[in-house]
Amino acid sequence: MNLVLLGAPGAGKGTQGNLLVKDLGLKKISTGDIFREILKDPSNPLYEDVKVIKEGKLVTDETVNNVVRYAVETSDNKNFIFDGYPRTLAQADALDKILADNGMKIDAVFELSVTKDVLMYRLLGRRTCRNCKGIFHVSAGYEVCPQCGGELYTRDDDNEETVEARFVEYNTKTMPLIEYYSSKDVKYIKYTVDSVDLTPDDINKKVLPELK
Ligand SMILES: [Zn+2]
Repeated sequence: MNLVLLGAPGAGKGTQGNLLVKDLGLKKISTGDIFREILKDPSNPLYEDVKVIKEGKLVTDETVNNVVRYAVETSDNKNFIFDGYPRTLAQADALDKILADNGMKIDAVFELSVTKDVLMYRLLGRRTCRNCKGIFHVSAGYEVCPQCGGELYTRDDDNEETVEARFVEYNTKTMPLIEYYSSKDVKYIKYTVDSVDLTPDDINKKVLPELK
C-alpha cells in the first residue's frame, strides 16, 4: 500500500505518520530526511544536486522529484507513506510517474485535519524549551522544562495571526491535491481533530481500520 499523508500545521501529522509506519509496516518518505541522508554521503549520485542546501539555497523541483525516485527505487520495503510530498500538482504528477515506472500507484490519501479552535488551543498554548527545544502545552502547568529544567517560552510565530495565516495557506495549497487524487482511483480518508481531549492513540484507533 502507498499512502500520501496530508496534514494541517499543528494537526499532529508527524505523530500519526509514525504510528501508521509502525502499524502498517510502511517506509516513510520525507524529503527532508532523504536530503540529510544524501548530504552525509558525497558518493551518492544526487549529492551534487542536493548540496546547494548547505549554501542555504533551495533545490529545484526536478531534484526533489529525483530524490523521491531515488528513495523509492533503493528501498527494500515497497510500501510507502509520503510525508510532506507531494506539495504541488506537478509533484503529484511526478510521483505518479515514479510509482508507475516501478509498477506501483498511490492507493490512499489520508488527510489529518484540525478545526481552527483546536489548532489555536494547541499552538497558542505551546511552550518551547529554550535549552532542549522540547515542546509542552501550557495546560500541563510546567514552570520550567520537565526534561532539562530550561526556560519555557512562547515562540514568536505561535500567535493568532500567524496561525490563522498558516491555516489558510495549508487549505489553499492542499485543495488542488485533494481534487487531483479524487479524480483518480485513490481512496481519500479525512479525519478532523475536533476536540482538544483527543490523544494521538485515540486518533490512531479511529483512523487505522479505514486504512487497513
Ligand atoms: Zn528542556
